[in-house]
Amino acid sequence: MDKSFPLTGWGSAAIHAGHRKEPLYAHQVPIYASSTYVYDDAEQGMRRFSGKEEGYIYSRWGNPTMTEAEEKIAALETFGINKEVKGILHASGMAAISTLMLATLKPGDKILTHYSLYGGTNELVSIILPGLKIEALICDLRNLSKAEEALKADPAIKMLYLETPANPTIQCVDLVELSKLAKRHNCITACDNTFATPYLQQPFRYDVDFVAHSTTKFLNGHGTAIGGILLGRDIEFMNGPCTQVHRLMGGNSNPFDAFLLIQGMKTLELRMERHCHNAMEVAHFLESHPAVAKVNYTGLESHPDHYTAMKQMRYPGAMLSFELKGGLQAGIDFMNKLKMCVRTVSLGTVDTLLSHPASMTHYRIPKEEKEKYGITDGLIRMNVGIENIQDIIADLDQSLS
Ligand SMILES: *Cc1c(COP(=O)(O)O)cnc(C)c1O
Repeated sequence: MDKSFPLTGWGSAAIHAGHRKEPLYAHQVPIYASSTYVYDDAEQGMRRFSGKEEGYIYSRWGNPTMTEAEEKIAALETFGINKEVKGILHASGMAAISTLMLATLKPGDKILTHYSLYGGTNELVSIILPGLKIEALICDLRNLSKAEEALKADPAIKMLYLETPANPTIQCVDLVELSKLAKRHNCITACDNTFATPYLQQPFRYDVDFVAHSTTKFLNGHGTAIGGILLGRDIEFMNGPCTQVHRLMGGNSNPFDAFLLIQGMKTLELRMERHCHNAMEVAHFLESHPAVAKVNYTGLESHPDHYTAMKQMRYPGAMLSFELKGGLQAGIDFMNKLKMCVRTVSLGTVDTLLSHPASMTHYRIPKEEKEKYGITDGLIRMNVGIENIQDIIADLDQSLS
């Protein structure tokens, strides 16, 4: 595509952004399956290694297929915003989040975060970071005065780490206000944007400093590869400490997974439109079903974070959870009756996925601990897929009966 042509649609950018004209005229980006790159002569090798000449050196450091994925996501996270960001593709969402923590924090620093975090992130901050003398403080960041109190009380807090919407209760925190608050206390902000995707929410719009994704989920969209990305506004910092940590800890992605990700992202707008439309229909259906005690969906006014979500998101997303009146056994029976919807953890795929945290992901966690995170015995988590809505509802209906 001619770079001078101004794309005005997000979906057009999802299709064309990041694509480079290929020297052999292939229509699609090739899978550059090469670990290393060659030099015309020794002098060129010198120029490449010293950074005087741009070019690939070794695929742990960078690879053309991976570059296309990085540039596409950077374009989508800043579409319509006049900001430049740099993205570094990683082997997984966890690798991207680990690079973020290791590049920005040092012993003695603290991070302030909230209860509702992805399980892996929760373990990273509660098990790995303390070993490096980095402490995580946990507070209900939906309460802005509590957040301010916490920041005021401890100048060692260097980062505000947010995930919105978050797992599995779909809680949301206010990106606009928290990012302002962090700036007033000389604190950087980072946001895990996996659940929303850049189509629904662009944290850089609110001056957040770093955005992380598990590209495994909606960005890939088809459940075919694990991946992650870390994006940042401070280009020098991204090219410096972040690149260094990424290269030396070996958190690189690979060209095949990057290729799958690029193909998946081309339909992200269409998919998210349908995911969100279906999720709203499912939420209404469940809300009026006699076997269901409660529906957690940010699109419903009954959700405590409805207004926060609608302030910063285009649509309320594809994820919801609901509580069955019959508790643990009702959850197990419901899961066993599903005929089309898929019984699995994870999210972000075109098909509808359901999981029952009490008998699956959170089976071994004590009941009081689970309830602190909003996980009750009858809670079902759902990734509403893009199948035709009548089939999704029919399967839920027969499983609830
Ligand atoms: C899945 C997920 C991660 C971790 O990503 P992986 O690709 O599995 O390493 C992080 N944050 C959120 C919100 C996720 O859903």
